[in-house]
Amino acid sequence: MQTRFLGKTVLVTGASAGIGEAIAVRFAQEGGSVVVNYSRNDAGAADTAEQVRRVHEAGGFGDAKVLVQKADVADEAAVAAMFDEVLREWGRLDVMINNAGIQKPSPSHESASEDFDRILGVNLRGCYLCCRAAIKHFLSRDGGGVIVNNSSVHEIIPKPEYLPYSVSKGGMENLTKTLALEYADRGIRVNAVGPGAIVTPINMNWINDPVAKGVVESHIPMGRAGESAEIAAVFAFLASDEASYITGQTLFACGGLTLFPEFRTTWSS
Ligand code: NAD
Repeated sequence: MQTRFLGKTVLVTGASAGIGEAIAVRFAQEGGSVVVNYSRNDAGAADTAEQVRRVHEAGGFGDAKVLVQKADVADEAAVAAMFDEVLREWGRLDVMINNAGIQKPSPSHESASEDFDRILGVNLRGCYLCCRAAIKHFLSRDGGGVIVNNSSVHEIIPKPEYLPYSVSKGGMENLTKTLALEYADRGIRVNAVGPGAIVTPINMNWINDPVAKGVVESHIPMGRAGESAEIAAVFAFLASDEASYITGQTLFACGGLTLFPEFRTTWSS
């Protein structure tokens, strides 16, 4: 394992479960101090923080720290308070990971506008609020900073019956590119990761049902769902200096889902 984040601080939103938890652990494995943000799952956040502590200890990273921050990323005041606290405690932030995300299925013509607002609020507005606060801090010091957003294959693949989710990820692509362009000459890189189907609590509807899981995996060219750790590794790469010349990109980690799997066999000519 490398030590690319030794002496660096990383804020991970939605780190109480799933991919966010794996990202927090991955940055800790590479020596980073980690802020574990979450909105409701106190036990999950405490568990992630404990894993981070254990990983720091095992790695001999005596100076690395962990900070738990409960804040709804859609809430402007809560995000401001979280950044105040992080900067008061640690004085610096080097890497911002916007991972928090929610979804809710509904036929679009029957969907509730409150759900549309809430999903856009968490997935896109939350990302905007945290990017804004992080960039303000990055600009206030030498050395810039890095942002990596958790998008989805649904950034480019429509997701019927998940309209707000699909729209939020499409918006995230533009947010990522616009911020990347706006701040490229000021030492700030902004990228995204686009996971495919990953084994996390958000996918409970098929993970524990072998038939449903088989259906999901039958659509994936690599023939299997991904693991959170495989996605966390992509976040670590994009946040590291190894990706120093990459900005404004979404790196899809999806087992080939974005390759038009329906064209695997020739049927169109
Ligand atoms: P999850 O449900 O396991 O975890 C979501 C996390 O977000 C939790 O820690 C939760 O506490 C947090 N969260 C929810 N609302 C929040 C809020 N308002 N403020 C702060 N935190 C909040 O989901 P996951 O699968 O780990 O998904 C994480 C991200 O990955 C999401 O943005 C999701 O869209 C994206 N993603 C997941 C998959 C997948 O297959 N699991 C695929 C593509 C993209």
